[in-house]
Amino acid sequence: MKTMTCRDLGGPCDQSFTGDDHNEIIIQQDAHLKEQVADGDTTHAEAAKAMKGRWKNPIGGMRWYRQVKRDFDALD
Ligand SMILES: [Zn+2]
Repeated sequence: MKTMTCRDLGGPCDQSFTGDDHNEIIIQQDAHLKEQVADGDTTHAEAAKAMKGRWKNPIGGMRWYRQVKRDFDALD
């Protein structure tokens, strides 16, 4: 079980997420961004847009995804 924050994933806050692999963290971040934007938080709008764009842009999205995996694997 490892922890990464919203900020680690390109977001603006220090909300932390825990998971057994990077996929669990990414799913939580995705949900967190959507929640924040739905609550009217504008600081998360850009990160939410970037996250949405990643699913539409497999190459750019893949680079980010691999980086998250590397960062996750590098944690103790
Ligand atoms: Zn956040």
